Amino acid sequence: MNDHSLSISQEQLSALRRLFHQHAETGMAEFWTTARIAQELEETGLSPLVGECVSLAEARMGVPDENTLRKARERALREGAPKAWLERMNGITGLAVDIRPDLPAHTVLRFDIDAVDVEESEKPSHLPHQEGFASLHRGICHACGHDGHIAIGLGLARELAKRKESLTRNVRLLFQPGEEGCRGARAMAGAGLLEGARHMIAAHIGMWARRDHSLVCGARGFLATTKFDVTFTGRAAHAGAEPHKGANSLLAAASAALNMHALPRHGEGDSRITVGRLEAGSGRNTIPALARMVCETRGSTTAVNEYMFEHCRSIIEHTAAMYEQQCDIRIMGGSGSAGSDDALIRLVRESAENVPWFRPELVEDSAPGFGSDDACVHMAAVQEQGGDATYIMLGSELAAGHHSPDFDFHEEVLMPSVELLTTLVLALDRR
Ligand SMILES: [Zn+2]
Ligand SMILES: [Zn+2]
Repeated sequence: MNDHSLSISQEQLSALRRLFHQHAETGMAEFWTTARIAQELEETGLSPLVGECVSLAEARMGVPDENTLRKARERALREGAPKAWLERMNGITGLAVDIRPDLPAHTVLRFDIDAVDVEESEKPSHLPHQEGFASLHRGICHACGHDGHIAIGLGLARELAKRKESLTRNVRLLFQPGEEGCRGARAMAGAGLLEGARHMIAAHIGMWARRDHSLVCGARGFLATTKFDVTFTGRAAHAGAEPHKGANSLLAAASAALNMHALPRHGEGDSRITVGRLEAGSGRNTIPALARMVCETRGSTTAVNEYMFEHCRSIIEHTAAMYEQQCDIRIMGGSGSAGSDDALIRLVRESAENVPWFRPELVEDSAPGFGSDDACVHMAAVQEQGGDATYIMLGSELAAGHHSPDFDFHEEVLMPSVELLTTLVLALDRR
């Protein structure tokens, strides 16, 4: 395929990216984003699937409380999100779209759509400020490039829709909520959206591809992870007169945090444990009766992560008994590990040879995973049913690292990315 055969332009892709950048929404509350993507797809002649059919209720993790969701929905309406789509979503964010729903499942691509809970930079050198498309929402910003992923996904949808008569099998695009914190993938996979698929492709701007014109065709060694919140509930008491009648939640949480960090490590791979936040107590002269911890474990394999999480659970429960606490452990997100398959890596490389923007000397077969990504849930689901998967890193120089307030990528990566994925999907269809 040459550049001229794409119907979408670089200007249109940049405009889309900027639009979604402005309306950055936190994970599992992407109401404006989902409704607007649905509208764009509908205008392309496609029929997006939204609501319960794209999200298994019991597998949804880390969903904000009802009040936060209501406010996010109201804000989406205020900001002009298409009302009909918001209603059809029925409170659930994310969507799937089939290019040829009449044909059997074949290739699935995942595009994540959530922003990061970080305050966007106001430095004059930050392009979104210079060009007037900075996030409208305080404390939430597209600091991971998912705004670019949405634009690429919409561009790909348009290119595939234009060629849909030539497809021999279905291509399904997932616009996934809540990638940050690994919250959204399991609910989508749980809704059966990967069933029967032979190929699974995820792509991310930057990561280890941080030069313009570079490309990484696959990734190996994403960390498996479990995100969990812990609450200790004890008994308050007068700290001077009756401390013996209290049950101290602050000490329970502090003791659990120290012991979790002191766990012996698994011999078969790297692991991580982080208690990222600990809040406890109410005042100076009261025995603290409530403590909350926000934690995560990670492991280089799913088994190593499970070892870490199960031992954390044991420490929390035993510490609770020691300090006479009720404890509650709530899973807020998680993903296993997965890696790219050689055959798909080769095909990505061959596809890139037809996209001149990617320079052959800057194309690498594979890189380590970049922390954790719940694309691994989709990858593993397709691999378990005998298919293959890959995770592509799309090269762009970055103004600052992922999740930093100054994060930004070069928009010129959007067009070649659409071209690469279109070429790749058509090559898979022909095989
Ligand atoms: Zn991220
Ligand atoms: Zn990301």
